Amino acid sequence: MSHVLIIGCGIIGAAIAYELSLSGLEVTVIDRQPPAQAATGAALGVLMGAISHKIKGNAWQMRARSIKRYETLIPELEAVTMRRIPYNRQGILMLCFQEEDLASWEKLAAVRSTQEWQLEIWNAAQLQLRCPQLNTEKIVAAIYSPQDRQVDPVALTIALVEAAKHNGVQFHFGVTATGYCFDNAEQQIYLQIENAQLSEQIKEVDWLVIAAGTGSTALQLQQKSTTIACDRTRIALSFAGTQQMQSTPAVEIKPVLGQAIHMQVDRPLGDPSFQPVITGNDVHIVPCVGSQPVTNYWIGATVEFPVNEQVVADATQLEIVKQQAIAFCPALAQAKIIHTWSGLRPRPEGQPAPIICNLPGFSNILLATGHYRNGVLLAPATAQKIREMIVRGE
Ligand SMILES: Cc1cc2nc3c(=O)[nH]c(=O)nc-3n(C[C@H](O)[C@H](O)[C@H](O)COP(=O)(O)OP(=O)(O)OC[C@H]3O[C@@H](n4cnc5c(N)ncnc54)[C@H](O)[C@@H]3O)c2cc1C
Repeated sequence: MSHVLIIGCGIIGAAIAYELSLSGLEVTVIDRQPPAQAATGAALGVLMGAISHKIKGNAWQMRARSIKRYETLIPELEAVTMRRIPYNRQGILMLCFQEEDLASWEKLAAVRSTQEWQLEIWNAAQLQLRCPQLNTEKIVAAIYSPQDRQVDPVALTIALVEAAKHNGVQFHFGVTATGYCFDNAEQQIYLQIENAQLSEQIKEVDWLVIAAGTGSTALQLQQKSTTIACDRTRIALSFAGTQQMQSTPAVEIKPVLGQAIHMQVDRPLGDPSFQPVITGNDVHIVPCVGSQPVTNYWIGATVEFPVNEQVVADATQLEIVKQQAIAFCPALAQAKIIHTWSGLRPRPEGQPAPIICNLPGFSNILLATGHYRNGVLLAPATAQKIREMIVRGE
């Protein structure tokens, strides 16, 4: 039986581990942190499928595949783990302001109906009726996507880990992969890890999946990797492919910072029985559906690019997001701020997100990374793609 080693236990690594556990492969996951930290620990879990402007090709297929898989995945995981995963089935409502091109939404709604997805276009009066909490002064219409969803990314990742464990996957947290080394005498490539006991236990793997988010650049095997001195804390990689190492990483993953706020109100915003994710000007109001009635909301997120290679959370940017949310939902001005947080989204430099392919020259080192703003959305489809690549290569 082939042994697959996954580096990274954010939403991507955890989804792959669970998917592979259904295929009877031997799977081990390592992460330098506990599960669901890094970008996944900061995500809002908004799953923008039908409401995205992607209509064809891989970008649309992955969205459609993921949203469909979520409908079966959530009950499946809840049954195995006996725990509820907060999953909002009330859709996503996108607010359109004066400058919005409504004709393009009408075109998209027509395309979606041929794809068997539904998009409704509401005028301001309909919107006010369904969502009385909104200040519709500057809003001309809204697009309602009833089949899109939102999920709690941390609860989901923990459930994936638990269910994968249940199916025999081994997880090792607090273990860092530090790079590669090349043993000249043995003509063997090794992955170096910071855990002697584990490297002794695993010894050799057939497949390596790099799902390390912003840590993925450093983990791509390249010529300069071979300069790392070999010690005993290493796992042999039994390679297939041409084994041609590149001089630079195949893909550079750069961090893009996002900040968000957890707010609490005395009573649900608007109709307690209709609590979709509301999004306007790229600001999301996300009801926390884990407890009912809903009185907790996540607001976010900022999109902050590094300045001189430095990523520092800018308080002004978060304030702008908060004020935008208050502008279309005035009751939030009275809300209590429970906490604020930030995370680093993994964005591929110079290539579209995400990166799901083999590392050039190595057919059994797979990259599943660079999901940027949509890692939670695309996790199920990513996991299915990785499984297909492994099954094809067996
Ligand atoms: C504020 C914010 C809001 C977001 N909202 C959404 C949203 O609404 N919807 C959506 O779909 N996406 C959203 N995202 C994006 C989403 O969070 C990411 O795309 C996704 O979490 C990426 O998952 P990942 O598993 O690839 O990376 P991560 O979650 O970053 O996990 C990578 C893991 O790899 C480990 N690792 C790295 N290097 C090593 C190493 N050398 N050795 C061992 N372990 C290593 C890390 O410890 C980490 O646990 C948001 C992101 C942010 C920051």
